[in-house]
Amino acid sequence: MPYEALKPQTAKALLGPPNKHKLLPGLGMVSDDTEHLVIVLRAFRKANGNLDLFSKQLASALKLWTLALPLGVGKASLISGLKLLIGFSPERSGIFSAGNGPAMRVSVLGLLCDNKEKLKEFVKKATLISHTDPKAYRSALAVAHAANLAKEFTRVEPALFLKRFRELNDSYCKEFDLLLEKTIKSVELKQSTQDFAMNLGLIKGVSGYCYHTVPVCLHAWLSNQDNFSKGVTDAIKCGGDADTVASIVGSLIGINVGREGIPDNWRRGLFDYPLNETSLVIIANDNLSRSVVKELIIFPFRQSVLFILIISHLILRMMGTPIILIRKKLK
Ligand SMILES: [Mg+2]
Repeated sequence: MPYEALKPQTAKALLGPPNKHKLLPGLGMVSDDTEHLVIVLRAFRKANGNLDLFSKQLASALKLWTLALPLGVGKASLISGLKLLIGFSPERSGIFSAGNGPAMRVSVLGLLCDNKEKLKEFVKKATLISHTDPKAYRSALAVAHAANLAKEFTRVEPALFLKRFRELNDSYCKEFDLLLEKTIKSVELKQSTQDFAMNLGLIKGVSGYCYHTVPVCLHAWLSNQDNFSKGVTDAIKCGGDADTVASIVGSLIGINVGREGIPDNWRRGLFDYPLNETSLVIIANDNLSRSVVKELIIFPFRQSVLFILIISHLILRMMGTPIILIRKKLK
């Protein structure tokens, strides 16, 4: 999260390499991406295969999430959350946007849903509730498909990813197909994810546009399927929407390497109650009993702590940037 919305060079100069938690020294919290993965996971389980029930569960969770004043939220997610709150149905709450919201929350669907036709329908529901641009669905489907393959194979061949995606995709678009082809070629040539992002023109970092984010995520995942820390740090080093890119990449590599493949200090440093390591394991094992106390007291408290930390980081950035400029001039 501390690296979000910074150019790659600025992030490097201000914060150094992204090798440990830096929200506080050695400690970190999760951002909206992980919150959404948890929301989708719980909605999917409660729906038990029923698409309409999934939509309803997702809508009620997103309403609560919007009320908790989420930070760093994308425009479409915020507007759709507000529309849901004032009574719009999940079919009419989305707005025309190709932001990252859907792509960041669907890997869990690819992991849990084995039926390919049903997977598409669930991804559509998880997308259209906030984003109606077909680009958002297509990109989200690519992420869900990647998760599905990561579950099936220890190592997914890049060419197989593309071949199977072409068979699955019910929303073909030449531009996206060419982007995926470019991604696969770059992985096969062993180009670094940072160089690949630069070649896509993302000099200032990966934007919040899904046609920028998803190819970079797939590149970092396909290049580092057995190395969680390298995949995630490569993603962060690309700059821009670092928390979202790293979250998608981490969720895909995590399917292969499991909890043990995540560096110890990264897991233990998560002091984010009720979304720390212990709580996330309980949620993953479906043993979470929802408590009104947690929803009404602890979560707003958690949001306040996060808000204070983010503001502190923004102030540090403002103080740090002139120092970097002076150093550059002196060189
Ligand atoms: Mg983000």
